[in-house]
Amino acid sequence: MPQTSGYAAKGPTSKLEPFTFERREPGPHDVLIDILYCGICHSDIHQVRDEWGGAMFPMVPGHEIVGRVTGVGSQVARFKVGELAGVGCFVDSCRVCASCKEGLEQYCEGHIVWTYNGTERDEKTPTYGGYSSHIVVDEHYTLKISPTLPLANVAPLLCAGITTYSPLRHFKVGRDQQVGVVGLGGLGHMGIKLAAAMGAEVTVFSTSKSKEQDARRLGAHDFVVAKDPASLVTLANRFDFILDTVSARHDLNAYLNLLRRDGALALVGASPQPLEVQAFSLIHKRRTLVGSLIGGIRETQEMLDYCVAKNITSDVEVIPMQQVDAAYDRTVNGDVRYRFVIDMTTL
Ligand code: NAP
Ligand code: ZN
Ligand code: ZN
Repeated sequence: MPQTSGYAAKGPTSKLEPFTFERREPGPHDVLIDILYCGICHSDIHQVRDEWGGAMFPMVPGHEIVGRVTGVGSQVARFKVGELAGVGCFVDSCRVCASCKEGLEQYCEGHIVWTYNGTERDEKTPTYGGYSSHIVVDEHYTLKISPTLPLANVAPLLCAGITTYSPLRHFKVGRDQQVGVVGLGGLGHMGIKLAAAMGAEVTVFSTSKSKEQDARRLGAHDFVVAKDPASLVTLANRFDFILDTVSARHDLNAYLNLLRRDGALALVGASPQPLEVQAFSLIHKRRTLVGSLIGGIRETQEMLDYCVAKNITSDVEVIPMQQVDAAYDRTVNGDVRYRFVIDMTTL
């Protein structure tokens, strides 16, 4: 197997730098993919900076991968050389637990193989992600990508798209529903597009007044500058469902109180700092606070097909590999409209 080139962080305070490593020889069920684009998710930043704990270095981040198949194993049935392929946040799982059997591999009760910052099924060999020239993935964990949408804009669907689609579907968001999206970044902008496409009336809560026009262009019906949670009280008991994508500590109670009776707030933002919940924010109106993690392979394919049907992609800023550190800083500062995507030909 030829050496793979990529970019890696050597430690939580180091910049990303060129790194070469070996991928496994493709096995009978594997697809070899030349990576064309890889999105930058805020989870890449949390992990590179070891904000969640347990980071493994050197780390090659990247789990919003689209590319072209350049090799297939002898048993591969779903992919041919020359076709497009996508890879998301995980590349394998135990395959035998109840969650895997239900197609909810992201909740695998055994060992899930994260695309990076994880280990292969042997639980020893480190995995390396999409900031790299190519990747080898079992075909069952590889997604079909339509050639009809612009590829750079499709890459973020592999994480930001499915992470917002899955809870919207799980909570049956649709027509005549009031939906709130908190935080207008990579996930938030996909949440607006998808919830609006499903027929909901969407209100965006953002700390950035400057994003109002964009929010409306993306499909929001209303925009609330949410710098001071006290200013939200006039909207109490209004929302059926709120999707919270905020990447840092914030006041959850302010948003829980906006839910009507039996409404649900799905937390997808993964703040490294704990969030406080007031008992009465939930008790008074029998509200639900729930978390949600990406989506399974079947649902990810469903989301990709839905996006083709509805002509939905991500708004992206394409950058060369060498600008990744600056892109991280800009993302943390909320200065991204609305996803950075690395053009892997610049590697
Ligand atoms: P992002 O592009 O940086 O967007 C996050 C947005 O949150 C920002 O644009 C900002 O929006 C808002 N925000 C940031 N800091 C804030 C603060 N201190 N107080 C209030 N609002 C703040 O990040 P992303 O890629 O969308 O990811 C968002 C979060 O989801 C991250 O924590 C990431 O790790 C997590 N994530 C979870 C899953 C999952 O499966 N659950 C999957 C992917 C990502 P405004 O400027 O509009 O206020
Ligand atoms: Zn992600
Ligand atoms: Zn499993």
